[in-house]
Amino acid sequence: MKRLALLGSTGSIGRNTLAIVARFPDHFKVKALTAHSSIDRLADQIALHRPEIAVVSDAAAAQRLRQRLPADVVVEILHGAEGYCTAAALDEVDITVGAMVGAAGLKPTLAAIAAGKDIALANKETLVMAGALVTDAVARQGVRLLPIDSEHSAIFQCLHGHRRQDLDKVLLTASGGPFLNTPAQDFDAITPARALKHPNWSMGAKITIDSATLMNKGLEVIEARWLFDLDMDQIQVMVHPQSIIHSMVAFCDGSMLAQMGIPDMQEAIAYALSYPDRIPLKQRLPDLVGIGGLTFHDPDTRRFPCLQLAFDACTESGTMPAVMNAANEVAVAAFLDGQLPFTGIARVIDATMSVHTLMASPDLDAIEHADAWARRKAGEMIAKEG
Ligand code: NAD
Ligand code: MG
Repeated sequence: MKRLALLGSTGSIGRNTLAIVARFPDHFKVKALTAHSSIDRLADQIALHRPEIAVVSDAAAAQRLRQRLPADVVVEILHGAEGYCTAAALDEVDITVGAMVGAAGLKPTLAAIAAGKDIALANKETLVMAGALVTDAVARQGVRLLPIDSEHSAIFQCLHGHRRQDLDKVLLTASGGPFLNTPAQDFDAITPARALKHPNWSMGAKITIDSATLMNKGLEVIEARWLFDLDMDQIQVMVHPQSIIHSMVAFCDGSMLAQMGIPDMQEAIAYALSYPDRIPLKQRLPDLVGIGGLTFHDPDTRRFPCLQLAFDACTESGTMPAVMNAANEVAVAAFLDGQLPFTGIARVIDATMSVHTLMASPDLDAIEHADAWARRKAGEMIAKEG
């Protein structure tokens, strides 16, 4: 029986995680659930899973949650950044699932690692912002950092049983998103409603927009760099519109391994939770005959400049990935709000990165400082765009 703290339980990854917990009650028990402001959904999850602790963003949300819960439900309700860290590091927890979206996931993840918890990580922004700090802490504490992101789960599965030094490169696949075949001149007319319709995957709003700009793949390049300790020239991105091969590895002898499955996050979540075992999830297998063919091509960084920005940020390293990530979060929110055109997202990130003074080996304070600076700068750039 593994005992879980689930950060971001009301989101897409969070709900998929709870679906697995509900199906395999002999394997998993939830001890803590956290959400931002989806109080009704969180209340339903608490009534079903009976965690010891629940955490929401602020005191008002905590009060609403208390009022919404039936009287017989016993749960400690905390709020704010400290509350999230308490839940992540709870004594009775074996594995902390990072399924929050954005920079808010960093501190709770570090708190969980410091408390000796294994981490099942969906929240890629944490590794993008502070990959060196997080992987150092993981090594120091001797905990496991298990990827939930499907590409990284694929690489992790392909590497299982192989010597790390035999790895030559990783090939990250990308669906290409909803605008894979949209001509460049039509990009300015892309609306949030269109960008929120992903062809293959059902996900939260922020990552869906990241998938449409290919920033998601850029964030994943940086995530892979830290998870698997790679040089940039060991990471290749390939567009694979069928999303059946979730990623591949190539070994030093020229042998390649690919991991395949239907585009559904439950398999990757289940593997991270049950590692090194597998549980009988019995996902439908991809209908390879029906699909007829798997295709691959290079990404187009002219139409999708965010991917190149991520390669650049990762090469520059230091505070640059945190700056890129923060500018992206602000720009995506502005696009969803109708304040920024689709193509403005990359422009704002690029402009923010180009006026940043890089710090080479930042500590947590310096990363948070760079994050806050980039949010302010990106806000100014968006105001100029408007
Ligand atoms: P989502 O928007 O559906 O859910 C986000 C969760 O985080 C919610 O529970 C929300 O309440 C919580 N949250 C949001 N802002 C918060 C804040 N400031 N403080 C605390 N909690 C906050 O997102 P998602 O699609 O589930 O994605 C979660 C993470 O997993 C992201 O980092 C994303 O990149 C990554 N991921 C998602 C998928 C997917 O299929 N959805 C796949 C791979 C990786
Ligand atoms: Mg992914």
